[in-house]
Amino acid sequence: MASKTAEDVLFPGIDVRVERVSDSSGGLVVEAASTGRPGRCPDCRKQAQRVHSSYQRTLYERPLVFRRVVVRLRVRRYFCDRRSCSRRTFVEQVGGLTERHRRSSVGLTGWLRSIAVELGVRPAARLCRRLRLAAGRTLLTQP
Ligand SMILES: [Zn+2]
Repeated sequence: MASKTAEDVLFPGIDVRVERVSDSSGGLVVEAASTGRPGRCPDCRKQAQRVHSSYQRTLYERPLVFRRVVVRLRVRRYFCDRRSCSRRTFVEQVGGLTERHRRSSVGLTGWLRSIAVELGVRPAARLCRRLRLAAGRTLLTQP
């Protein structure tokens, strides 16, 4: 059987490169970088061509073997070069992993929503605390 890369195991089908996994007292910290094609402007949908800068985002991911997982993900900010667009720059989103303004991964968000739908918000919040899932009440109540 072919050996799998860290990307295959942690982020199957997602455009990221895993640079480092470390074990801290708070859980596992996965440092990764986005490797996908340039993103599209969220306003005018034009595909970007110029990178403005990059920065590290912190994302809460689903736990792994009973450890909390935090992803420190390097993402790129792009210029929108369409003159008629009022947006100057935007941050890329990584398909299957990030959403705008959200601090939990797409996968964790899906879990939390399912738990909230099944249990209701307050029991869901208690269960998430017990399971050590990073879940604010706002997240559990958002549609
Ligand atoms: Zn634009």
